[in-house]
Amino acid sequence: MGESRSRVVIVGGGQAGGRLAQLLARIDRLSVTLVCQEPHPPYERPPLSKGVLLGTRGFDSCLIWPPGDAAWQKVELRVGVSAESIDRKARTIRLDDGARLSYDHLVLATGSRLRQLTVPGSRLGNVHSLRSYDQALAIAEDFAPGKRLVVVGGGFIGLEIAASARLRDLVTTVVEASDRLLARVVPARIAGLLASRHEAEGVSLRMGAMVERFISNGRGAVKAVELSTGETLPCDVAVVGVGVAANIELAAKAGLEVDVGIRVDEQLRTSDPAVFAIGDVATFRHPLYQRHVRVEAWQNAEDHAKVVAALLAEQEAVADSVPYFWSDQYDLSLQIVGLPHLGSSVVTRTRKDGAAILFHLEPDGRIVGATGLGTSGSIGRDIRLTQLLIAEGARPDRAVLKNPEARLKALLSQDTPPPLHPAQAGAQPFPGV
Ligand code: FAD
Ligand code: NAP
Repeated sequence: MGESRSRVVIVGGGQAGGRLAQLLARIDRLSVTLVCQEPHPPYERPPLSKGVLLGTRGFDSCLIWPPGDAAWQKVELRVGVSAESIDRKARTIRLDDGARLSYDHLVLATGSRLRQLTVPGSRLGNVHSLRSYDQALAIAEDFAPGKRLVVVGGGFIGLEIAASARLRDLVTTVVEASDRLLARVVPARIAGLLASRHEAEGVSLRMGAMVERFISNGRGAVKAVELSTGETLPCDVAVVGVGVAANIELAAKAGLEVDVGIRVDEQLRTSDPAVFAIGDVATFRHPLYQRHVRVEAWQNAEDHAKVVAALLAEQEAVADSVPYFWSDQYDLSLQIVGLPHLGSSVVTRTRKDGAAILFHLEPDGRIVGATGLGTSGSIGRDIRLTQLLIAEGARPDRAVLKNPEARLKALLSQDTPPPLHPAQAGAQPFPGV
């Protein structure tokens, strides 16, 4: 009889859990079970607000494991069931279908869930929100040229939905509580450029406005949205995108350390070394920034899956990649690397075609992040080079950063740089930008 296989149970079949299961399927001495709450095998979310709403992407094109991948044979997929509790002493989890699964290693990849608006009318039939493929399909079915759409929330979801809606000729209004778009995640200059582009595409923006209630047409559907400003916006369909919260409850109930996420170390281990947490749900210690961070982004989920896959293959690995995030709206690409909000000053590189990259620096000149907006071709290369500069802990020459003709590659060194020192706690995000 051969040696018994080590059992890995992954809870959550999103980007992080799905990718991890695929990577672990290649390791013979592991048995892998993936518990998916959603009634689908693992799929990617970025196409939901873009191609799926435009009708150009179907479900199969969103699958994380392509057809024919070994993972389909080697991973035990439990679809449409949730993990309800963890018994850490017995190393088992209980599912809501009554099953109990034993593990040697447990990976929590439970991701985020949508924040809900609790105003009257928010449960009307055509008031949508977007996290899952099924929700994207429901929105796409309600999209038709000429329909009046109100999007609540001028964050990533809201703006991507607005761009897709305009491409499908809906009459589109975005309602945002803050006095500008993407207030917590991008500097005012970039938010202003994006706002101008949305307006040029025909989107109406209502800043500093909250939804008071969704008004019913008497047949279970919304006919108008009443705002805190006193304005009433007639509409045929509404979509709410007001942020997410991490799914930490399963971990918290099991006595694992949590904050806004599940707290883990540089190797993504929770306070119980047999349990990892990865992706959106993990608040992890980032060695480069020497602090705990939680990152809601596709690349972070991918990177975390690779780290845990390496550790379970008995290789050394830490979660030290420089965060990267993108958003596509019209032909514009918004790309963010590092942690821009840690910077205390900004150097701006503006290209002749209008594309802009803002480099975020600490007081000692260390680069901690960058925010770029332009066509993907115009900013992609510089953003990738900036990611390397951040990883090096570089203190780049400001004149080179500013000059769009100067090559960022020349700023990269071959030497091993010292780690970043912690940025000042409590610094204002994007001061003076
Ligand atoms: P999720 O993808 O949220 O997966 C978690 C899974 O766990 C879910 O399926 C959930 O149902 C399941 N689950 C939760 N609790 C349990 C339980 N108890 N038992 C079993 N299963 C459970 N990021 C970018 O960088 N660029 C983009 O362009 C981009 N576009 C996006 C567009 C949309 C519409 C959305 C919603 C997100 C987008 N993102 C984008 C963000 C990115 O998709 C997420 O950061 C990523 O999906 C996080 O992966 P995750 O596996 O950690 O969590
Ligand atoms: P988000 O970026 O946090 O944006 C939510 C926005 O809604 C914020 O600007 C918020 O303003 C505003 N808001 C909150 N309450 C409101 C109210 N009552 N009325 C009007 N506006 C209100 O979150 P999101 O856009 O919903 O995205 C959710 C998740 O999906 C995130 O994890 C995100 O990373 C991910 N996602 C990513 C992409 C991408 O990367 N391309 C695309 C789609 C989704 P305040 O800041 O003032 O609260």
